[in-house]
Amino acid sequence: MYDFIIIGAGLYGTVCARQLAEAGMKVLVIDKRSHVAGNAYTKNVEGINVHIYGAHIFHTNNKAVWDYVNKFTEFNRFTNSPVADYKGELYSLPFNMYTFNKIWGVRTPEEAAAKIAEQRKIAGVEIPKNLEEQAISLVGIDIYEKLIKGYTQKQWGRACDQLPAFIIKRLPVRFTYDNNYFDARYQGIPIGGYTKMVEAMLSGIEIKLNCDYLKDKESWNSQAKRIIYTGPIDAYFNYSLGYLEYRSVRFENETLDMLNFQGNAVVNYTDEETKWTRIIEHKWFEFGKDESGQDIPKTVISREYSSEWRPGDEPYYPVNDKKNIELYKNYKEMADNESNVIFGGRLGEYKYYDMDQVIDAALRRVACYG
Ligand code: UDP
Repeated sequence: MYDFIIIGAGLYGTVCARQLAEAGMKVLVIDKRSHVAGNAYTKNVEGINVHIYGAHIFHTNNKAVWDYVNKFTEFNRFTNSPVADYKGELYSLPFNMYTFNKIWGVRTPEEAAAKIAEQRKIAGVEIPKNLEEQAISLVGIDIYEKLIKGYTQKQWGRACDQLPAFIIKRLPVRFTYDNNYFDARYQGIPIGGYTKMVEAMLSGIEIKLNCDYLKDKESWNSQAKRIIYTGPIDAYFNYSLGYLEYRSVRFENETLDMLNFQGNAVVNYTDEETKWTRIIEHKWFEFGKDESGQDIPKTVISREYSSEWRPGDEPYYPVNDKKNIELYKNYKEMADNESNVIFGGRLGEYKYYDMDQVIDAALRRVACYG
């Protein structure tokens, strides 16, 4: 008999497992995939740690979370500064003085702010009600048209006026010449990859891979006092109220016999016509060097295509529109009545979590068992 069986070896499940094991509980982690680390999983290809399920850049303002992850790995000094490619014109992200200078020729913060205010006025936005209005109110019409509209529609498969404003508020707008994508005090990539970090977190803990909990739910439940379930909440209830919608992502990976393909880890393609949303060149998360500090002769790139989730696809981003938020609430009520099962994480809570937030949530959720 286990004290806890944890479904899913992603960050939420892993942190719960670590904390509970340290509190003396008997813990088993099961995952239907053949590896740990969930979507943060990295795989070494040609000496490069490839982010198999999309780029993961650790960033946080939460000192407790930063100290926590640093117990298991060392982080490098990677700072995310993506480039936006709009029909061959290159712009700095996030939106900052370099972006404003390139788009309008303005030099000072005052000139940039005046330009944005003028465009906001022309668009007639007072209180932003959706992503489109929020974007125009933050950065004006020109930047919205070139750097936000096409990218967002590709990523979410929905028009910008049908999406919630909060999605775009994730991005900083700065009136300084600063290309750091995140407003975070701490940032970096685990040296040696995320898989190594998660393996360190799970060391000494029993793990079963290639194991689909939902196929054998009752039997697993009978072996544990409590379950922590980090899979999709609707799948747990056999989709009895209908499917929650997700965006899925498809990656086309290529290993190229060249040193440097695009000169940056992340290039976003912000026009509507280019089918992919971005290209990741993984080696630049680690400055193009292998473990011994040598330049890596090859490179691995991933073109990222966003698509509507269909049963059988990997769910990535919860679609937090009204319809889905309502449906989630109903599932949540069912989950609350499920005794001895804790639902957590991006899929368990149907929430657009960053890695630091999911770690924080897990630490809080299991603190009472410490
Ligand atoms: N976004 C955009 N243009 C860009 C990058 C981001 O319009 O070049 C918008 C888009 O709506 C996206 C949101 O900002 O969904 C959040 O982007 P972020 O990079 O945080 O997405 P994630 O890292 O979660 O994929």
